[in-house]
Amino acid sequence: MAQQKRDYYEVLGVSKGASEDEIKKAYRKIAIKYHPDRNPGDKVAEEKFKEAAEAYDVLHDPQKRQQYDQFGFDGPMGGGAGGFGGGFGGGFSMDDIFSMFGDVFGGHGGGFGGGFGGQRGGRPAQHRGADLRLKVRLSLEEIATGVTKKFKVKKDVTCSHCHGSGAEAGSGKETCPACHGSGVVTRTTQSLFGMMQTQTVCPTCEGEGMVIKNKCKACGGTGVVKGEEVVEINIPAGVAEGMVVNVQGKGNAGIHNGIAGNIQVYIEEEPNDTFVRDGQDLIYNLLLDFPTAALGGQVEIPTISGSKVKIKIEPGTQPGKALRLRGKGLPAVQGYGHGNGDLVVHISVYVPKTLSKEEKKQLEEMQKSDNFKGDTATKQTIFQRFRSYFN
Ligand SMILES: [Zn+2]
Ligand SMILES: [Zn+2]
Repeated sequence: MAQQKRDYYEVLGVSKGASEDEIKKAYRKIAIKYHPDRNPGDKVAEEKFKEAAEAYDVLHDPQKRQQYDQFGFDGPMGGGAGGFGGGFGGGFSMDDIFSMFGDVFGGHGGGFGGGFGGQRGGRPAQHRGADLRLKVRLSLEEIATGVTKKFKVKKDVTCSHCHGSGAEAGSGKETCPACHGSGVVTRTTQSLFGMMQTQTVCPTCEGEGMVIKNKCKACGGTGVVKGEEVVEINIPAGVAEGMVVNVQGKGNAGIHNGIAGNIQVYIEEEPNDTFVRDGQDLIYNLLLDFPTAALGGQVEIPTISGSKVKIKIEPGTQPGKALRLRGKGLPAVQGYGHGNGDLVVHISVYVPKTLSKEEKKQLEEMQKSDNFKGDTATKQTIFQRFRSYFN
């Protein structure tokens, strides 16, 4: 994202720790101040209005806010592939703002007259196709390497009969009779600031100012039809449950050759039998046999890549000890975070459930030795570790 952006907290004038309520109040204040109905034709106000809406969109959603706090503007997917910049880049219009955050104003359009006039002028409106949402369930192995997934997506596609124009071959457009080509109609409404005239998008031509003379028979004039497409989506390594990969331009086609929407891919994570994920770290529970714990030795540990690594067990290794294999965890999502995570080996010691006569005799022999009782210091450390699990 090339454009300079202000920090979202700065935009709303709230602290990093602001509550949801504070964020909503701050946004409402700014939105009213810079509302287009109060600042007709004022480009600076319009930008401020949009900027605040974008900040609010991110900060009032706990998940987006957490991602923003962690990764900044680009979101976890970075640059063009997704992130907040990408998510908004594809046509965040005034209408979107009103439909998304109507609740902030107290109802749809919020007593501001609903639509958004003035700025549209006679310009034809760009229709943006709706976003699609997909879910994908990934194994930890797939997350470790990144993966390309194919989806067969049912969506609006450009009508091949009229190539998206919505008109039958040879038939052109004529000026909309309802708005006489302006794309807007004037309405008188009750607003927060008293009775006011507002312009709203012409419902007949949906803001285009033109209507089709002879509508395409295949699509009924919209330029889009129901269709299907196989979409390949690259999921970067290191993603986590709840993250969203935003794929621009692969959503529903926009009517009359408008901008296509995006596909938002929601990540789900399959539980793994061998490892437990802790952020970028992986936890492996090693069940050590008692003689190896006491004598020391070498054991093999599986890794997420499928290969095994040998680790050294020091003589007298205590249950509850953790070993950290640096860099053997999960990668960071496209360079965010701090390189690879670690593989953390938690050691438990196995106690046999049944014993042979011979083994029993040997253990009874050991039992007599004070060395097997454990000193006070060791007992205390184990107790502290045990407590720390619950705190
Ligand atoms: Zn058509
Ligand atoms: Zn019209």
